[in-house]
Amino acid sequence: MPDQTLIVDGVVVSSNLLTLSHGEHCHDGDCKAACCVGGIWVDLLEVQRILEHANDLRPFLAPQYALNEDLWFEDDDYLHPDFPSGVALATRTVPRAANAEVDGCIFLRADHLCALHVASDALGLGWPGLKPFECATYPIRRADGIVGYDEETAAENPHADCQKRTEPSPLPRFVVFKAELELAIGKKAYSELAKRANSL
Ligand code: SF4
Repeated sequence: MPDQTLIVDGVVVSSNLLTLSHGEHCHDGDCKAACCVGGIWVDLLEVQRILEHANDLRPFLAPQYALNEDLWFEDDDYLHPDFPSGVALATRTVPRAANAEVDGCIFLRADHLCALHVASDALGLGWPGLKPFECATYPIRRADGIVGYDEETAAENPHADCQKRTEPSPLPRFVVFKAELELAIGKKAYSELAKRANSL
């Protein structure tokens, strides 16, 4: 299906959400956080919230990066309207705690879990807590105002597509990634998308 757009409840979404998946949503962790290779752009307001919780977060980070929060984000900012504040900072990429020959996001721990995710759970901060919004919705992503499935990251790393190879008849991506899409666009827009998809 060509990559066109639909508008649901005022939100622009990509028709790539209607494409059939490879299978059910994978939560196995066998990918060892393949999507975290390059780090992530984080809205400035989220960066500020993470840094306000720096002392709470330290016990959950890889020890070599825990004490110095100046290392956690790159210095250069990125101005783009996809981010609610209009400004984002990238998480720093460093040699992975589990394998120093490969780089990964500084918040990635030796157990391949995200320190911001683990800490948010432990501190009872709800979902997504301190986990960057773009990471919490992955592989759903907003790019140039269009919310869709992140073809780019999955193409760069096939282990990062978050799908098991299951048969028969895999479901469309918007069904497989319902939770991530509802977080990204809201339940009302999701419901409208599902109705539109089912009427095609
Ligand atoms: S913040 Fe967490 S989920 Fe996001 S790229 Fe870094 S380690 Fe991965």
